[in-house]
Amino acid sequence: AQTSRDSASAREDAMLSGGCSLDDEDRYKLCEPLVLQCPKCTERFDFKGCGALVASVTAANAPSVPDLLACPKCAAAGAMTDPEASMSTPSKPAEVAYKCGKLSGAMLANQVKLRLHDYVARYYDGRLRCDEACGCETRNICCAAQGDAAPGTVSFNSMCTGRMSRVYTEADLYKQISHVVRLLDLPAALAKIADEGKRSEAARLVAPFMG
Ligand SMILES: [Zn+2]
Ligand SMILES: [Zn+2]
Ligand SMILES: [Zn+2]
Repeated sequence: AQTSRDSASAREDAMLSGGCSLDDEDRYKLCEPLVLQCPKCTERFDFKGCGALVASVTAANAPSVPDLLACPKCAAAGAMTDPEASMSTPSKPAEVAYKCGKLSGAMLANQVKLRLHDYVARYYDGRLRCDEACGCETRNICCAAQGDAAPGTVSFNSMCTGRMSRVYTEADLYKQISHVVRLLDLPAALAKIADEGKRSEAARLVAPFMG
């Protein structure tokens, strides 16, 4: 039986070989968000990505530009009104970070590195799941032979005729890493802003932290 995950992977392969544009939002809809941790209150929040910044800068009735690296909880509590949270003091990003709940560029880079490490570790963890109703999961490859099953794909539940396949596939890992790279790709996001004035405004807003 073909699992839904298998068919999702097959679709992914088809899209990759089809040279599908990285701009295709749908491709990344099911990816996990890039989760950052606030240096002040340790709250976790999703990094919205450079695209969110572009969207707000180019919106007709532009709302406030999102501060991508600011903790929403601390911002709501008024920490960002501290004058040191201002972009005018980029010389002390670490101090601002702990005082106002806003990540510095170095903190962002470090947390991204940790997240990427988590994804790769999950892939190498090699958890397998049975594609039949029993739904069993294991990290132990069963070496039993069963009909024409490929080596290592037989369910360890000998009563089950299902096949074991990776819970987290290579395609999943590739897509998740691409998702993160895309969220952080400031040049690509800026290139989408046609208006030169707005483009330089957006670049100025993120430059101190995205460099
Ligand atoms: Zn916070
Ligand atoms: Zn099974
Ligand atoms: Zn076995």
